[in-house]
Parts: sequence; C-alpha cells; structure tokens
Amino acid sequence: MPDTQVSTPAAALLPAIRAIVGERGLITDPVDTAPYAEDWRKLYRGRTPAVIRPANTAEISAVVRLCAQAKVPIVPQGGNTSMVGGASPMEDGSEFILSLSRLNRVREIDALDMTMTIEAGVTLKAAQNAALEAGCMLPLSISAEGTAQIGGVLATNAGGNNTVRYGNARDLVLGLEVVLADGEIWNGLRRLRKDNTGYCLRQLFVGSEGTLGVITAAVLKLAPRAREIAVALCAVPDAAAALDLFGRFQAYDATTIQAFEFLSGAGVDLVLRVIPGAVLPFARPAPAYALVELATSRPDAGLRASLEKILETALADGVVTDAAIAESEAQRGAIWKLREEHSEAQKRAGASVKNDISVPVSKVAELIRRATAACEKLIQGVRAMPFGHMGDGNIHFNLVQPEGADPAWFLAQDHALMEVVNEVVRDLDGSFSAEHGIGRLKPYLMTDWRGGAELAVMRRIKQALDPNGIFNPGRVLP
Ligand SMILES: Cc1cc2nc3c(=O)[nH]c(=O)nc-3n(C[C@H](O)[C@H](O)[C@H](O)COP(=O)(O)OP(=O)(O)OC[C@H]3O[C@@H](n4cnc5c(N)ncnc54)[C@H](O)[C@@H]3O)c2cc1C
Repeated sequence: MPDTQVSTPAAALLPAIRAIVGERGLITDPVDTAPYAEDWRKLYRGRTPAVIRPANTAEISAVVRLCAQAKVPIVPQGGNTSMVGGASPMEDGSEFILSLSRLNRVREIDALDMTMTIEAGVTLKAAQNAALEAGCMLPLSISAEGTAQIGGVLATNAGGNNTVRYGNARDLVLGLEVVLADGEIWNGLRRLRKDNTGYCLRQLFVGSEGTLGVITAAVLKLAPRAREIAVALCAVPDAAAALDLFGRFQAYDATTIQAFEFLSGAGVDLVLRVIPGAVLPFARPAPAYALVELATSRPDAGLRASLEKILETALADGVVTDAAIAESEAQRGAIWKLREEHSEAQKRAGASVKNDISVPVSKVAELIRRATAACEKLIQGVRAMPFGHMGDGNIHFNLVQPEGADPAWFLAQDHALMEVVNEVVRDLDGSFSAEHGIGRLKPYLMTDWRGGAELAVMRRIKQALDPNGIFNPGRVLP
C-alpha cells in the first residue's frame, strides 16, 4: 500500500523508516503483514501499518528513536509462537511490528568459557545445533524451538523440558544487548560468571515480554554435550504414581534427570488419533504416562543400567505398569513425538482452553486430580488433557471442547474454566502463568494475583524504562 493512502501517526513515519531499513526491511502490503499480525493460537487478528525488519542493532536503534519521538507503539516479534498473544498488534492498526528475524548470526562460541554470543533472531533450534557443532549443548528445549527465536525465548523467560535440570531461559543468560525506549543501545554482552556491579539489568529484560526494551543479542551459558542419553516412556496408573516415580529418580541421582514429563491418557490417545506417524510402544493404552530422559556427560556413568534398575523396582511396586526404553535415536524421537505433538493435536481437535500453571512439585498430582474434577463438574464432556513438566511443577492444564460442541460456545467459557482451575492453583500456592507469560491474554489477572506492592514496583520500572509507553502497551501490566 502506498504510504500516502493512510494518515495515522505510524503511517506518517513510514518514509523515514524506509530510509533507515531500505525496501527489504519493510513490509506494508496488508496481505503480507497479515500472518505477522495473527497469533499462533488464532485468538487475535490484529492489523499493522508495517512489519519493520531491520538488518542490525543500529537500524533498530534508529527506528526506535523515531517511534519514541512520535510516540508510536512497537510490538517486538520473534517467531510469533506466543501462547498468550504477546507478539500480536492491536486491531486498530496503530502499532508497528518490529521483526528481529534478520538479526540471525551466531557471533561467537567459546568452548572453554562455555558461552555463546548470539543475535536475537536466531531460532532456538539453530542455536542448539550451533552449540552441538562446537561440542557443547544449549540446554533449553521447547516444542516450538524450530520457530521460536532467542530474543522471544528470553523475552518470555521460556522454560520447557530441561528446566528440571538447567532452570529457565533466565538461568542461562550471562549478558544482553538491548535497544532502550529512547533508541539508546545498552551493550551488556559480558560473559562473566561473576559480576556484582550494581543492579542486575539483564534480568529485568528477561521475562519482560517486550515491554521494557528490544533484546538484540545475548550471551548464553552452554553445558557439556551429553555422552549418554537414556529415554523411557512409562505407563502409570495415575498422576500420583508418576510423581512417585519422579521421586525415585530424584533420590537415585537427581543430577542425571534431564526431563520428566507427565502425559494424560486422554492426551496421548488424541495424539495417536490425529497426528500421522504417532505410535504407542505398548499393547494397550494406559490412564497416564511419564516420560523420563536421563543424560550425562560422564563417559562411564552406566545410565541405561540405572534406568532399568529404577524401573524394575517401580514395576514390582505397581508404580509403573509397563515401560518402553528407547533403543535408538529413532525410538527416542518416537517417544518424544507423543509429548511434543500435544499442542498441535489439541489444535486439530477444535477449541481448547489452556492453563499454563505451576505448583510446588510435591503438589502436582493433587493439582491434576482436583482441577480435572472441578472442570468436569463445570462442563459436562469437557476433555481434560493435562501434560507437561511434572519435574519442575509446571503443568499445561489444557481443556479440549466436548466432542461435537460449538467451538465459539466453548471458548466463551474460558474465563469460567480458568477460574475454577486457578482456585485450585491458589489453594496449592501456585502460579496462574508458569512459562507462557501474560501477553494480551492475561493482564486482567495481574491485579488479583500480583497486586499491591509487587504490581506497584512493576509499574514504576515500566515508567522508568519506557516513560512514553511505546513498547507493547497494554500487555503484561493491566
Ligand atoms: C507448540 C508450542 C510449544 C511451546 N512450548 C513452550 C514450552 O515448552 N515452554 C515455554 O516456555 N514456552 C513454550 N511455548 C511458548 C513460548 O513463549 C514461545 O514458544 C517462545 O518462548 C517465544 O518465542 P518467539 O520467538 O516465538 O516469541 P514471540 O511469540 O514472537 O514473542 C513473544 C513475546 O516476546 C516479545 N519479544 C519477542 N522477541 C523479542 C525481542 N527480541 N526483544 C524483546 N521482546 C521480544 C514479544 O513482543 C512477545 O511479547 C510454546 C509455544 C508453542 C506454539
């Protein structure tokens, strides 16, 4: 669309922005901007006058400076896989999307420092591969890693499968480069393990969901590459048995647990039905499953023997009813596929309401039992398909619409369903958002859950760093 056809404050900036980023760095045709303006879950279909795609940090700085002067809002965007509409612009077309995709270089990997200096637009998968090529491992893994980018992963403080061992994205960041709300560039790309020099600014930006600054590059901690990996899918009678099994692995050697995931029987059944190539390695389905992955960088750890030993006792005690240990990389992939395809399978089964919740690990089984009962009482036929990171206390308590129900009707019940789940979460001292963040979907819950001093401090930080409110206005803070 020619810039002259629209006369919003954002559109008025387009010629100056084009002069900074060039023709290649600007998408203005509404047909081409539409995919960027819709979120992964298809909850929001926004509009934007342009997707700005700068090639480097200096261009981002110049664009932000212009927008700050004109008070035009910016939505930073990575892979656009946010589960809470965090990277979607508003429907009124007043906000630019700032895509980080062209900042896609791995700047440096140092195998002795065990660090990687990387730009924000590199996908998580590409970052993992680069670390492996250098003989190390980037120990962060999420199902969306082929699309999600380092900047988005850090801006949302992503968790994922390996949190049980390595922590969240936050725990892997040593340094950041950030474009601030007035366009100034903060270069904090230090790779120091110890650096007590005032407030820890990088941790302010991690998890801020694009509301405080644009992350353009980072220094990430790497881990030693695993020499041995052992993976098993275990059929269990219920979530309490899965938690019992986790306790057994933890007591034996907590340092080797790389992932411990819970899968409901209903969730796995759905994956088997709608995802081509998904196969259950058992003769008959079970009420629930635990997926355990052990890994070590030690050459002589005998991981496979440890895994078999723990499973033998668990089978004898009735905690596990059947177990399949991966004998090859292909079998390992097939087991993980049953876990990784949960979100996609639920998307294909109609409307779903997602609760990304956490409780202390010891309370996960009680959470699943009580929340399932509460939702089934509220809506007859609702299909509870809880799954996720049992080993760190984070469950995706997803609810799929009853078979044959009207999707729009079901989605209209989302607040009521979230409320009954959150009542249980609150009672168990948990959080209503474990790893997906707040985005556009959940700011309304912040006053109730994080009100008082906590929210007041957050507002003061936002005011100090982004006084004109140009970064993601209306997201995170109500
Ligand atoms: C199938 C699937 C599985 C998922 N599994 C997990 C999981 O296991 N664990 C987990 O934690 N999350 C998971 N997620 C959600 C998760 O938040 C995202 O996948 C990922 O962290 C976001 O990365 P992104 O590049 O797509 O960010 P986007 O979706 O583009 O953006 C997310 C937020 O970060 C902001 N942002 C993006 N880039 C920048 C930047 N450079 N600087 C400042 N702000 C920025 C955006 O404005 C937005 O608020 C999953 C999502 C999907 C679709």
